[in-house]
Amino acid sequence: MSQRNWPRLALLVDPSVAAANTLAAARKTKPLMNFSELGLAAPILRALQDEGYAQPTPIQTKAIPGVLAGRDLLGIAQTGTGKTAAFALPILHRLAANRRPALRKGCRVLVLTPTRELASQIAESFRTYGRHLGMTVAVVFGGVGHRPQIQALTRGVDVLVATPGRLLDHIAERDIVLSGTEVLVLDEADQMLDLGFLPPIRRIVAQLTSKRQNLFFSATMPHEIGKLADELLRDPVRVAVSPSATTVDSVKQRVLHVESHNKRALLVELFADPQMSRALVFTRTKRGADRVAHHLEMAGISVAAIHGNKSQSQRERALAAFRAAKIRVLVATDIAARGIDIDQVTHVVNFELPDVPESYVHRIGRTARAGAAGIAISLCDAEERDLLRDIERLTRQPIPAEDRRLGTTRGSDLSAQRQSHRGNGHGPGSRGADDQRASNRKRQQQAPHGRQQQGDNRGFRSAAGPARHRGAPKQSAGRASSSAGGR
Ligand code: AMP
Repeated sequence: MSQRNWPRLALLVDPSVAAANTLAAARKTKPLMNFSELGLAAPILRALQDEGYAQPTPIQTKAIPGVLAGRDLLGIAQTGTGKTAAFALPILHRLAANRRPALRKGCRVLVLTPTRELASQIAESFRTYGRHLGMTVAVVFGGVGHRPQIQALTRGVDVLVATPGRLLDHIAERDIVLSGTEVLVLDEADQMLDLGFLPPIRRIVAQLTSKRQNLFFSATMPHEIGKLADELLRDPVRVAVSPSATTVDSVKQRVLHVESHNKRALLVELFADPQMSRALVFTRTKRGADRVAHHLEMAGISVAAIHGNKSQSQRERALAAFRAAKIRVLVATDIAARGIDIDQVTHVVNFELPDVPESYVHRIGRTARAGAAGIAISLCDAEERDLLRDIERLTRQPIPAEDRRLGTTRGSDLSAQRQSHRGNGHGPGSRGADDQRASNRKRQQQAPHGRQQQGDNRGFRSAAGPARHRGAPKQSAGRASSSAGGR
Protein backbone atom coordinates (compact mmCIF):
# COMPACT_ATOMS: atom_id res chain seq x y z
CA MET A 1 0.00 0.00 0.00
CA SER A 2 2.62 2.47 1.05
CA GLN A 3 4.46 1.97 -2.26
CA ARG A 4 1.68 3.68 -4.14
CA ASN A 5 2.24 6.67 -6.32
CA TRP A 6 0.03 9.01 -4.33
CA PRO A 7 -1.49 11.92 -6.22
CA ARG A 8 0.24 15.24 -5.92
CA LEU A 9 -1.19 18.19 -4.13
CA ALA A 10 -2.31 20.42 -6.93
CA LEU A 11 -3.75 23.42 -5.19
CA LEU A 12 -3.52 24.40 -1.65
CA VAL A 13 -5.34 27.06 0.13
CA ASP A 14 -7.56 30.04 -0.23
CA PRO A 15 -5.40 33.17 -0.36
CA SER A 16 -7.87 34.86 1.94
CA VAL A 17 -6.96 32.66 4.88
CA ALA A 18 -4.06 33.35 7.17
CA ALA A 19 -0.62 34.30 5.96
CA ALA A 20 0.73 30.94 7.03
CA ASN A 21 -1.33 29.49 4.27
CA THR A 22 0.08 31.66 1.52
CA LEU A 23 1.87 30.19 -1.43
CA ALA A 24 5.30 31.08 -0.10
CA ALA A 25 4.62 29.58 3.28
CA ALA A 26 3.20 26.47 1.69
CA ARG A 27 6.38 26.00 -0.32
CA LYS A 28 8.52 26.25 2.79
CA THR A 29 6.38 23.78 4.75
CA LYS A 30 8.28 20.54 5.13
CA PRO A 31 5.97 17.61 4.39
CA LEU A 32 5.19 15.52 7.47
CA MET A 33 6.75 12.13 7.13
CA ASN A 34 4.72 9.94 9.42
CA PHE A 35 1.36 9.72 11.11
CA SER A 36 2.64 10.28 14.65
CA GLU A 37 3.85 13.76 13.64
CA LEU A 38 0.25 14.57 12.80
CA GLY A 39 -0.69 14.19 16.46
CA LEU A 40 -3.08 11.27 16.14
CA ALA A 41 -3.88 9.21 19.25
CA ALA A 42 -1.89 6.04 19.92
CA PRO A 43 -4.77 3.56 19.33
CA ILE A 44 -5.27 5.09 15.88
CA LEU A 45 -1.57 4.87 15.11
CA ARG A 46 -1.71 1.22 16.09
CA ALA A 47 -4.58 0.59 13.69
CA LEU A 48 -2.64 2.30 10.90
CA GLN A 49 0.33 0.12 11.66
CA ASP A 50 -1.92 -2.96 11.50
CA GLU A 51 -2.98 -1.76 8.04
CA GLY A 52 0.62 -1.27 6.92
CA TYR A 53 0.21 2.46 6.25
CA ALA A 54 3.73 3.83 6.46
CA GLN A 55 3.12 7.46 5.55
CA PRO A 56 0.20 9.79 5.16
CA THR A 57 -0.86 10.53 1.60
CA PRO A 58 -0.66 14.18 0.48
CA ILE A 59 -4.32 14.85 1.20
CA GLN A 60 -3.96 13.31 4.66
CA THR A 61 -0.91 15.43 5.44
CA LYS A 62 -2.78 18.58 4.50
CA ALA A 63 -6.23 17.81 5.83
CA ILE A 64 -5.61 16.09 9.16
CA PRO A 65 -4.10 19.00 11.16
CA GLY A 66 -6.95 21.36 10.23
CA VAL A 67 -9.66 18.82 11.01
CA LEU A 68 -7.96 17.92 14.31
CA ALA A 69 -8.09 21.61 15.17
CA GLY A 70 -11.85 21.61 14.57
CA ARG A 71 -11.75 23.53 11.28
CA ASP A 72 -14.15 23.00 8.40
CA LEU A 73 -12.57 21.47 5.31
CA LEU A 74 -13.08 21.71 1.59
CA GLY A 75 -11.30 18.84 -0.15
CA ILE A 76 -11.09 18.60 -3.92
CA ALA A 77 -10.19 14.98 -4.30
CA GLN A 78 -11.53 11.75 -5.61
CA THR A 79 -11.51 8.19 -4.34
CA GLY A 80 -8.07 6.63 -4.49
CA THR A 81 -6.27 9.59 -2.92
CA GLY A 82 -6.66 8.35 0.65
CA LYS A 83 -9.39 10.90 1.35
CA THR A 84 -11.44 8.56 3.55
CA ALA A 85 -8.63 8.32 6.08
CA ALA A 86 -8.05 12.06 5.66
CA PHE A 87 -11.40 12.68 7.34
CA ALA A 88 -11.92 9.44 9.32
CA LEU A 89 -8.65 9.60 11.28
CA PRO A 90 -9.00 13.10 12.76
CA ILE A 91 -12.72 12.55 13.36
CA LEU A 92 -11.99 9.38 15.33
CA HIS A 93 -9.31 11.22 17.27
CA ARG A 94 -11.73 13.98 18.24
CA LEU A 95 -14.48 11.53 19.19
CA ALA A 96 -12.06 9.63 21.43
CA ALA A 97 -10.69 12.80 23.02
CA ASN A 98 -14.19 13.85 24.01
CA ARG A 99 -16.09 10.68 24.74
CA ARG A 100 -19.79 10.98 25.31
CA PRO A 101 -22.74 8.86 24.32
CA ALA A 102 -24.65 9.78 21.17
CA LEU A 103 -28.30 10.72 21.56
CA ARG A 104 -30.75 7.84 21.37
CA LYS A 105 -31.48 7.21 17.65
CA GLY A 106 -28.76 9.74 16.90
CA CYS A 107 -25.13 9.92 15.89
CA ARG A 108 -22.13 12.09 16.72
CA VAL A 109 -20.79 12.00 13.14
CA LEU A 110 -22.89 11.82 9.99
CA VAL A 111 -21.21 10.91 6.69
CA LEU A 112 -23.37 11.41 3.60
CA THR A 113 -22.26 9.58 0.49
CA PRO A 114 -23.94 8.96 -2.88
CA THR A 115 -23.76 5.19 -3.33
CA ARG A 116 -24.32 2.12 -1.24
CA GLU A 117 -20.90 0.72 -2.13
CA LEU A 118 -19.17 3.86 -1.01
CA ALA A 119 -21.23 3.93 2.20
CA SER A 120 -20.15 0.37 3.02
CA GLN A 121 -16.51 1.13 2.26
CA ILE A 122 -16.48 4.25 4.40
CA ALA A 123 -18.14 2.47 7.33
CA GLU A 124 -15.56 -0.29 6.99
CA SER A 125 -12.75 2.28 7.05
CA PHE A 126 -14.10 3.84 10.26
CA ARG A 127 -14.28 0.37 11.82
CA THR A 128 -10.74 -0.45 10.70
CA TYR A 129 -9.12 2.79 11.84
CA GLY A 130 -11.17 2.88 15.04
CA ARG A 131 -10.79 -0.77 15.97
CA HIS A 132 -8.76 -0.03 19.12
CA LEU A 133 -11.10 2.75 20.22
CA GLY A 134 -14.37 0.86 20.60
CA MET A 135 -16.38 3.24 18.43
CA THR A 136 -19.79 2.26 17.13
CA VAL A 137 -20.45 2.58 13.40
CA ALA A 138 -23.71 2.08 11.54
CA VAL A 139 -24.55 2.28 7.87
CA VAL A 140 -27.85 3.16 6.23
CA PHE A 141 -28.69 2.83 2.54
CA GLY A 142 -31.55 1.81 0.30
CA GLY A 143 -32.24 -1.52 -1.36
CA VAL A 144 -32.15 -3.48 1.90
CA GLY A 145 -34.56 -3.84 4.84
CA HIS A 146 -35.29 -0.93 7.20
CA ARG A 147 -35.55 -2.90 10.42
CA PRO A 148 -31.90 -3.89 11.01
CA GLN A 149 -30.91 -0.28 10.34
CA ILE A 150 -33.43 0.99 12.88
CA GLN A 151 -32.22 -1.53 15.46
CA ALA A 152 -28.58 -0.56 14.90
CA LEU A 153 -29.49 3.03 15.68
CA THR A 154 -31.77 2.57 18.67
CA ARG A 155 -29.14 3.37 21.26
CA GLY A 156 -27.33 5.91 19.10
CA VAL A 157 -23.98 5.42 17.35
CA ASP A 158 -20.71 7.33 17.15
CA VAL A 159 -20.56 7.29 13.35
CA LEU A 160 -23.43 6.95 10.90
CA VAL A 161 -22.67 6.57 7.20
CA ALA A 162 -25.72 7.06 5.00
CA THR A 163 -27.01 7.62 1.50
CA PRO A 164 -29.44 10.57 1.42
CA GLY A 165 -32.65 8.87 0.24
CA ARG A 166 -32.85 6.18 2.90
CA LEU A 167 -31.71 8.57 5.59
CA LEU A 168 -34.64 10.85 4.77
CA ASP A 169 -37.00 7.86 4.98
CA HIS A 170 -35.72 7.13 8.48
CA ILE A 171 -36.00 10.78 9.48
CA ALA A 172 -39.61 10.88 8.24
CA GLU A 173 -40.36 7.75 10.29
CA ARG A 174 -38.63 9.31 13.33
CA ASP A 175 -36.21 6.39 13.43
CA ILE A 176 -33.26 8.77 13.35
CA VAL A 177 -32.72 12.06 15.15
CA LEU A 178 -29.90 14.24 13.86
CA SER A 179 -30.01 17.17 16.24
CA GLY A 180 -27.00 15.96 18.26
CA THR A 181 -24.69 15.55 15.26
CA GLU A 182 -21.32 17.19 15.88
CA VAL A 183 -19.63 16.54 12.54
CA LEU A 184 -21.07 16.38 9.02
CA VAL A 185 -19.06 14.86 6.18
CA LEU A 186 -20.36 15.30 2.66
CA ASP A 187 -18.50 12.94 0.37
CA GLU A 188 -18.40 12.92 -3.45
CA ALA A 189 -20.58 16.01 -3.58
CA ASP A 190 -20.39 16.31 -7.36
CA GLN A 191 -21.71 12.80 -7.72
CA MET A 192 -24.54 13.74 -5.36
CA LEU A 193 -25.40 16.50 -7.81
CA ASP A 194 -25.36 14.06 -10.74
CA LEU A 195 -27.73 11.77 -8.89
CA GLY A 196 -30.14 14.56 -8.00
CA PHE A 197 -29.33 14.42 -4.28
CA LEU A 198 -28.86 18.13 -3.66
CA PRO A 199 -32.43 18.81 -2.46
CA PRO A 200 -32.36 15.78 -0.10
CA ILE A 201 -29.01 16.98 1.26
CA ARG A 202 -30.42 20.41 2.00
CA ARG A 203 -33.36 18.78 3.79
CA ILE A 204 -31.00 16.66 5.88
CA VAL A 205 -28.75 19.61 6.72
CA ALA A 206 -31.82 21.50 7.93
CA GLN A 207 -32.12 18.87 10.69
CA LEU A 208 -28.65 19.56 12.07
CA THR A 209 -27.58 22.11 14.62
CA SER A 210 -25.51 24.95 13.25
CA LYS A 211 -22.83 24.27 15.87
CA ARG A 212 -21.00 21.55 13.99
CA GLN A 213 -17.87 20.84 12.00
CA ASN A 214 -18.33 20.37 8.24
CA LEU A 215 -16.07 18.42 5.92
CA PHE A 216 -16.88 18.63 2.24
CA PHE A 217 -15.32 16.52 -0.52
CA SER A 218 -15.83 16.68 -4.26
CA ALA A 219 -13.73 15.55 -7.22
CA THR A 220 -14.85 18.53 -9.29
CA MET A 221 -16.39 21.90 -8.48
CA PRO A 222 -19.34 22.63 -10.73
CA HIS A 223 -21.19 25.83 -9.93
CA GLU A 224 -23.94 24.27 -7.81
CA ILE A 225 -21.44 22.37 -5.72
CA GLY A 226 -19.45 25.54 -5.13
CA LYS A 227 -22.69 27.18 -3.99
CA LEU A 228 -23.48 24.34 -1.60
CA ALA A 229 -19.94 24.46 -0.19
CA ASP A 230 -20.32 28.20 0.40
CA GLU A 231 -23.57 27.59 2.26
CA LEU A 232 -22.21 24.84 4.47
CA LEU A 233 -18.62 25.74 5.24
CA ARG A 234 -17.21 28.35 7.56
CA ASP A 235 -13.68 29.54 6.84
CA PRO A 236 -12.64 26.11 5.61
CA VAL A 237 -9.14 24.76 5.14
CA ARG A 238 -8.93 24.07 1.41
CA VAL A 239 -7.01 21.12 0.05
CA ALA A 240 -6.93 19.74 -3.46
CA VAL A 241 -5.08 16.84 -4.99
CA SER A 242 -4.53 16.24 -8.64
CA PRO A 243 -4.92 12.59 -9.51
CA SER A 244 -4.19 13.11 -13.13
CA ALA A 245 -0.49 13.19 -13.85
CA THR A 246 0.77 10.23 -11.90
CA THR A 247 -2.17 8.10 -12.92
CA VAL A 248 -1.92 8.93 -16.56
CA ASP A 249 1.84 8.41 -16.58
CA SER A 250 1.62 4.88 -15.29
CA VAL A 251 -1.06 3.72 -17.74
CA LYS A 252 -0.23 2.56 -21.24
CA GLN A 253 -2.90 4.15 -23.38
CA ARG A 254 -4.19 3.37 -26.84
CA VAL A 255 -7.04 4.64 -28.99
CA LEU A 256 -8.69 2.46 -31.59
CA HIS A 257 -10.65 4.33 -34.23
CA VAL A 258 -13.66 2.27 -35.18
CA GLU A 259 -17.11 2.74 -36.64
CA SER A 260 -19.69 2.93 -33.92
CA HIS A 261 -21.56 -0.17 -35.19
CA ASN A 262 -18.36 -2.24 -35.13
CA LYS A 263 -17.39 -1.45 -31.56
CA ARG A 264 -18.92 -4.55 -30.02
CA ALA A 265 -17.18 -6.89 -32.48
CA LEU A 266 -13.87 -5.13 -31.88
CA LEU A 267 -14.36 -5.40 -28.13
CA VAL A 268 -14.80 -9.18 -28.42
CA GLU A 269 -11.67 -9.29 -30.58
CA LEU A 270 -9.70 -7.53 -27.85
CA PHE A 271 -10.53 -10.31 -25.44
CA ALA A 272 -8.54 -12.75 -27.59
CA ASP A 273 -5.60 -11.39 -25.61
CA PRO A 274 -5.20 -13.68 -22.58
CA GLN A 275 -3.38 -10.88 -20.74
CA MET A 276 -6.72 -9.12 -20.51
CA SER A 277 -7.68 -11.11 -17.46
CA ARG A 278 -9.48 -8.50 -15.33
CA ALA A 279 -10.98 -5.76 -17.45
CA LEU A 280 -13.26 -2.89 -16.57
CA VAL A 281 -15.32 -1.73 -19.57
CA PHE A 282 -16.95 1.69 -19.36
CA THR A 283 -20.12 2.69 -21.16
CA ARG A 284 -21.96 5.98 -21.01
CA THR A 285 -25.40 4.64 -20.25
CA LYS A 286 -27.00 1.93 -18.19
CA ARG A 287 -28.69 0.44 -21.23
CA GLY A 288 -25.37 0.52 -23.08
CA ALA A 289 -23.74 -1.39 -20.22
CA ASP A 290 -26.38 -4.11 -20.41
CA ARG A 291 -26.08 -4.37 -24.18
CA VAL A 292 -22.30 -4.66 -24.08
CA ALA A 293 -22.42 -7.22 -21.27
CA HIS A 294 -24.96 -9.29 -23.18
CA HIS A 295 -22.82 -9.20 -26.32
CA LEU A 296 -19.72 -10.34 -24.42
CA GLU A 297 -21.69 -13.10 -22.77
CA MET A 298 -22.90 -14.33 -26.17
CA ALA A 299 -19.26 -14.44 -27.23
CA GLY A 300 -18.46 -16.72 -24.29
CA ILE A 301 -16.69 -14.14 -22.15
CA SER A 302 -17.57 -14.19 -18.45
CA VAL A 303 -19.02 -10.81 -17.58
CA ALA A 304 -21.33 -8.83 -15.29
CA ALA A 305 -22.68 -5.30 -15.50
CA ILE A 306 -23.10 -2.78 -12.68
CA HIS A 307 -25.13 0.39 -12.88
CA GLY A 308 -27.82 2.30 -11.04
CA ASN A 309 -30.67 0.04 -12.15
CA LYS A 310 -29.16 -3.05 -10.60
CA SER A 311 -30.28 -4.10 -7.14
CA GLN A 312 -27.90 -3.90 -4.24
CA SER A 313 -27.44 -7.67 -4.13
CA GLN A 314 -26.83 -7.85 -7.89
CA ARG A 315 -24.15 -5.18 -7.60
CA GLU A 316 -22.51 -6.84 -4.63
CA ARG A 317 -22.52 -10.23 -6.36
CA ALA A 318 -20.99 -8.75 -9.52
CA LEU A 319 -18.25 -6.97 -7.57
CA ALA A 320 -17.44 -10.01 -5.47
CA ALA A 321 -17.20 -12.20 -8.59
CA PHE A 322 -14.95 -9.65 -10.28
CA ARG A 323 -12.71 -9.28 -7.26
CA ALA A 324 -12.44 -13.07 -6.93
CA ALA A 325 -11.57 -13.35 -10.66
CA LYS A 326 -14.66 -15.49 -11.26
CA ILE A 327 -15.59 -13.18 -14.09
CA ARG A 328 -13.19 -11.57 -16.50
CA VAL A 329 -15.08 -8.40 -17.30
CA LEU A 330 -17.10 -5.86 -15.39
CA VAL A 331 -19.08 -3.45 -17.55
CA ALA A 332 -19.90 -0.27 -15.67
CA THR A 333 -21.15 3.27 -15.99
CA ASP A 334 -19.00 6.04 -14.50
CA ILE A 335 -21.25 6.58 -11.55
CA ALA A 336 -21.56 2.90 -10.64
CA ALA A 337 -17.80 2.41 -10.85
CA ARG A 338 -16.78 5.47 -8.95
CA GLY A 339 -15.75 4.91 -5.40
CA ILE A 340 -15.19 1.22 -5.86
CA ASP A 341 -11.74 0.12 -4.84
CA ILE A 342 -10.66 -2.80 -7.01
CA ASP A 343 -6.99 -3.64 -7.31
CA GLN A 344 -5.27 -5.47 -10.12
CA VAL A 345 -7.49 -4.41 -12.98
CA THR A 346 -5.32 -5.32 -15.99
CA HIS A 347 -7.21 -3.27 -18.58
CA VAL A 348 -9.67 -0.45 -18.72
CA VAL A 349 -11.64 -0.27 -21.94
CA ASN A 350 -13.57 2.86 -22.79
CA PHE A 351 -16.28 1.40 -24.97
CA GLU A 352 -17.44 4.98 -25.29
CA LEU A 353 -15.43 8.05 -24.46
CA PRO A 354 -16.80 10.07 -21.54
CA ASP A 355 -18.43 13.44 -22.14
CA VAL A 356 -16.13 15.10 -19.66
CA PRO A 357 -12.38 14.59 -20.11
CA GLU A 358 -11.68 14.36 -16.38
CA SER A 359 -13.79 11.20 -16.29
CA TYR A 360 -11.29 9.64 -18.69
CA VAL A 361 -8.54 10.19 -16.13
CA HIS A 362 -10.72 8.76 -13.36
CA ARG A 363 -11.58 5.74 -15.48
CA ILE A 364 -8.09 4.80 -16.58
CA GLY A 365 -6.82 5.31 -13.02
CA ARG A 366 -8.68 2.08 -12.21
CA THR A 367 -5.96 0.08 -13.91
CA ALA A 368 -2.99 1.70 -12.19
CA ARG A 369 -3.92 1.19 -8.59
CA ALA A 370 -1.53 0.20 -5.85
CA GLY A 371 1.41 1.30 -7.97
CA ALA A 372 0.67 -1.27 -10.69
CA ALA A 373 0.99 -0.39 -14.37
CA GLY A 374 -2.06 -0.87 -16.53
CA ILE A 375 -3.43 -0.65 -20.01
CA ALA A 376 -6.25 1.59 -21.18
CA ILE A 377 -7.87 1.11 -24.57
CA SER A 378 -10.42 3.56 -25.91
CA LEU A 379 -12.78 2.84 -28.77
CA CYS A 380 -13.43 6.08 -30.60
CA ASP A 381 -15.98 6.59 -33.35
CA ALA A 382 -16.39 9.60 -35.61
CA GLU A 383 -18.73 11.40 -33.20
CA GLU A 384 -16.28 11.10 -30.35
CA ARG A 385 -13.22 12.70 -31.91
CA ASP A 386 -13.79 16.07 -30.30
CA LEU A 387 -14.01 14.30 -26.96
CA LEU A 388 -10.70 12.59 -27.71
CA ARG A 389 -9.08 15.91 -28.51
CA ASP A 390 -10.31 17.31 -25.21
CA ILE A 391 -8.82 14.36 -23.36
CA GLU A 392 -5.46 14.81 -25.07
CA ARG A 393 -5.56 18.49 -24.24
CA LEU A 394 -6.24 17.73 -20.58
CA THR A 395 -3.59 15.04 -20.22
CA ARG A 396 -1.18 17.02 -22.40
CA GLN A 397 -0.18 14.03 -24.41
CA PRO A 398 -1.34 12.51 -27.69
CA ILE A 399 -2.65 8.99 -27.24
CA PRO A 400 -1.17 6.48 -29.70
CA ALA A 401 -3.94 5.55 -32.12
CA GLU A 402 -4.72 2.73 -34.50
CA ASP A 403 -7.25 2.74 -37.28
CA ARG A 404 -9.46 -0.30 -36.79
CA ARG A 405 -12.20 0.86 -39.11
CA LEU A 406 -13.14 -1.85 -41.54
CA GLY A 407 -11.67 -1.25 -44.96
CA THR A 408 -8.63 0.61 -43.64
CA THR A 409 -5.13 -0.65 -43.00
CA ARG A 410 -5.11 -2.24 -39.57
CA GLY A 411 -2.62 -1.16 -36.98
CA SER A 412 -1.49 1.99 -38.75
CA ASP A 413 -0.44 4.73 -36.39
CA LEU A 414 -2.86 7.58 -36.73
CA SER A 415 -1.20 10.07 -34.44
CA ALA A 416 0.76 11.70 -37.25
CA GLN A 417 -2.18 11.52 -39.64
CA ARG A 418 -4.39 13.16 -37.05
CA GLN A 419 -1.98 16.02 -36.73
CA SER A 420 -1.58 16.57 -40.47
CA HIS A 421 -5.27 16.23 -41.24
CA ARG A 422 -6.41 18.53 -38.51
CA GLY A 423 -8.50 21.22 -40.06
CA ASN A 424 -8.41 20.01 -43.68
CA GLY A 425 -11.75 18.28 -43.55
CA HIS A 426 -10.53 14.71 -44.08
CA GLY A 427 -9.52 11.71 -42.03
CA PRO A 428 -10.10 10.88 -38.39
CA GLY A 429 -8.81 14.19 -37.09
CA SER A 430 -11.01 16.32 -39.27
CA ARG A 431 -13.93 18.40 -38.17
CA GLY A 432 -16.59 16.80 -40.30
CA ALA A 433 -20.32 16.96 -39.69
CA ASP A 434 -20.05 14.33 -36.96
CA ASP A 435 -17.37 16.27 -35.17
CA GLN A 436 -19.37 19.44 -35.42
CA ARG A 437 -22.34 17.69 -33.84
CA ALA A 438 -20.19 16.43 -31.00
CA SER A 439 -18.74 19.85 -30.55
CA ASN A 440 -22.17 21.45 -30.40
CA ARG A 441 -23.28 18.87 -27.88
CA LYS A 442 -20.27 19.67 -25.73
CA ARG A 443 -20.79 23.39 -25.90
CA GLN A 444 -24.33 22.92 -24.66
CA GLN A 445 -23.11 20.79 -21.78
CA GLN A 446 -20.46 23.23 -20.77
CA ALA A 447 -22.52 26.37 -20.93
CA PRO A 448 -23.80 26.36 -17.34
CA HIS A 449 -20.29 25.89 -15.97
CA GLY A 450 -18.65 28.82 -17.64
CA ARG A 451 -17.84 30.49 -14.36
CA GLN A 452 -15.44 27.76 -13.34
CA GLN A 453 -13.86 27.40 -16.74
CA GLN A 454 -12.61 30.91 -16.58
CA GLY A 455 -10.17 29.55 -14.08
CA ASP A 456 -9.42 30.04 -10.50
CA ASN A 457 -12.32 32.05 -9.22
CA ARG A 458 -12.99 30.25 -5.97
CA GLY A 459 -9.82 31.50 -4.46
CA PHE A 460 -7.68 28.41 -4.99
CA ARG A 461 -4.05 28.75 -5.65
CA SER A 462 -1.35 26.30 -6.62
CA ALA A 463 1.13 25.30 -3.96
CA ALA A 464 4.04 24.89 -6.35
CA GLY A 465 3.03 26.80 -9.43
CA PRO A 466 0.29 25.77 -11.81
CA ALA A 467 0.07 22.00 -11.99
CA ARG A 468 0.31 22.12 -15.75
CA HIS A 469 3.76 23.64 -15.62
CA ARG A 470 4.92 20.60 -13.72
CA GLY A 471 3.62 18.26 -16.41
CA ALA A 472 0.34 17.65 -14.65
CA PRO A 473 -2.92 18.29 -16.41
CA LYS A 474 -5.13 21.11 -15.31
CA GLN A 475 -6.96 20.18 -12.14
CA SER A 476 -10.57 19.39 -12.67
CA ALA A 477 -12.06 21.79 -10.16
CA GLY A 478 -13.85 23.76 -12.81
CA ARG A 479 -15.86 21.10 -14.56
CA ALA A 480 -19.04 19.24 -13.97
CA SER A 481 -18.27 15.55 -13.67
CA SER A 482 -20.83 14.38 -16.17
CA SER A 483 -24.30 14.96 -17.38
CA ALA A 484 -26.68 13.16 -15.13
CA GLY A 485 -29.28 11.54 -17.30
CA GLY A 486 -29.44 7.79 -17.23
CA ARG A 487 -25.90 7.19 -16.08
P1 AMP B 1 -9.63 6.31 -0.53
O1 AMP B 1 -9.18 7.40 -1.43
O2 AMP B 1 -10.00 6.77 0.80
O3 AMP B 1 -10.69 5.46 -1.19
O4 AMP B 1 -8.37 5.33 -0.31
C1 AMP B 1 -7.86 4.53 -1.33
C2 AMP B 1 -7.07 3.34 -0.79
O5 AMP B 1 -5.87 3.78 -0.19
C3 AMP B 1 -7.79 2.52 0.25
O6 AMP B 1 -7.66 1.17 -0.11
C4 AMP B 1 -7.04 2.81 1.54
O7 AMP B 1 -7.01 1.68 2.37
C5 AMP B 1 -5.63 3.14 1.06
N1 AMP B 1 -4.89 4.11 1.89
C6 AMP B 1 -5.38 5.25 2.44
N2 AMP B 1 -4.41 5.92 3.09
C7 AMP B 1 -3.27 5.21 2.95
C8 AMP B 1 -1.91 5.39 3.41
N3 AMP B 1 -1.55 6.45 4.11
N4 AMP B 1 -1.01 4.45 3.07
C9 AMP B 1 -1.39 3.36 2.35
N5 AMP B 1 -2.64 3.13 1.89
C10 AMP B 1 -3.58 4.03 2.18
